[in-house]
Amino acid sequence: MNHTFQTITLKCPGCGANLAITPEMDTFACGYCGIQQMVQRSGGTVNLKLIGEAIARVQLGTDRTAAELAIRRLREDLAGAETERERLNLAIAGGETITGYLVIAFIALLVATITCLYYRTWIGACIAAAFAMFVTFRTKRNIKACERMIAYRNRTVDARNEDLRRQLARHLEVVSN
Ligand SMILES: [Zn+2]
Repeated sequence: MNHTFQTITLKCPGCGANLAITPEMDTFACGYCGIQQMVQRSGGTVNLKLIGEAIARVQLGTDRTAAELAIRRLREDLAGAETERERLNLAIAGGETITGYLVIAFIALLVATITCLYYRTWIGACIAAAFAMFVTFRTKRNIKACERMIAYRNRTVDARNEDLRRQLARHLEVVSN
């Protein structure tokens, strides 16, 4: 996809605010923290580069305004990420409960199948066995879905939270100096 001719959203390198970058933008100051930056376009990708003294101020971590804004934004992002994690945990717990019910249903159907076979009720045995197979299929699918959610939580969500916390700690250090 070519981003060169359309408005895109990028994060301010100073404070992390979402900035709308229009195609005609070249150099500008962030509307939140005032950091001067330049829009660099090459090969369909768009990047923001800090200009001159802004580089020194942000890299040395001496820009309090940028840091304070970044802290507020990062705290909001962290709260959002925390909510997402809780939602995921609920979905995982719900999925695991369903797996439990499915296993109970499978055992009951297995008993029904054996009982039908014992009493030579062939049609009953066939129906119970068919349901047992269906339940097996649903159980497998349910377990897979739970595994996917757990993997997403442990890799993607936790890694992002970790990154947000690191950024937050860095900016808090700037403000406390
Ligand atoms: Zn900014």
